Amino acid sequence: MTVSHSVVKLPVITLPNLFDALEISQLSVSQQQLIIAIDKMLPQTQCGLCGHVDGCLPYATAIVKEGEPHNKCVPSGQLVADQIAQLLHRPTLTAEPSKWQTDANTGRPMEVRAVIREEDCIGCTKCIPACPVDAIIGSGKRMHTIFTDLCTGCELCLPPCPVDCIELVAYPRTLNEDQRLSEQDNLRGRYYAHLSRIENQVNDNTNARPVVSMVQAKLNDVSIDISENQAKHTIEAAKLRTQIKKLQKQLAVRANPTKQQQLDALEQALQSLEHDASS
Ligand code: SF4
Ligand code: SF4
Ligand code: SF4
Repeated sequence: MTVSHSVVKLPVITLPNLFDALEISQLSVSQQQLIIAIDKMLPQTQCGLCGHVDGCLPYATAIVKEGEPHNKCVPSGQLVADQIAQLLHRPTLTAEPSKWQTDANTGRPMEVRAVIREEDCIGCTKCIPACPVDAIIGSGKRMHTIFTDLCTGCELCLPPCPVDCIELVAYPRTLNEDQRLSEQDNLRGRYYAHLSRIENQVNDNTNARPVVSMVQAKLNDVSIDISENQAKHTIEAAKLRTQIKKLQKQLAVRANPTKQQQLDALEQALQSLEHDASS
């Protein structure tokens, strides 16, 4: 298989570890070039509607590596399905339908953006880890807001919201090719930065967080079906770590036999909790 488009340079970026499993670096240069070219055409919404929950790059890889059909990216519609068919010299296929009507100006399904009904938001923070491009801001028990300019309309923040206060609104606009490519490059960069940040958090065992997103679970190689028991364990462990840290700080300043005993007991409790969780 050869690349018929202009020469595509291999990226000098380091991919987040989540993509190690794709084994892109072990493919031939021409396959890698095709993956990059296809990924460049994809909208970088990272919505997973193509069946690849980790986003556009895994889908581009599957098209090249596994011969997966090239018409599965819902947000990009017929236009991009045809571009990929042309690149790969494949027959055209009808694009997977979108629930949004086709925008007459762009030939793509209508773009949407998420908006939080702020008066209903309970500040639970559950939407934050779900957003692949870090478009949501807010902190515990405070109203959350979505930066419309950063949102891709991927809809991934809707299911975790316990009070259904996130809505999608149509966002019609027309971009020229350069603007679209530049926006897609930007979205890709933000998604990879998001993955790398989560990866760092996962590897930082001093930073225990009771909320585990799908991406976090995957990076950590744990099941995404977290049972109520597991969640309780995680929260309990987080509380213990906080108490341990506090005592360690106090003891670093001044020795205190009573506090040392408390610290030993807490560390033991944490150890047995971690042991229970892993068995
Ligand atoms: S934007 Fe398209 S290719 Fe990317 S994850 Fe969504 S459906 Fe898949
Ligand atoms: S705010 Fe919601 S819809 Fe917008 S990009 Fe983030 S997860 Fe997707
Ligand atoms: S998940 Fe819903 S209720 Fe919770 S912070 Fe996000 S928008 Fe607010």
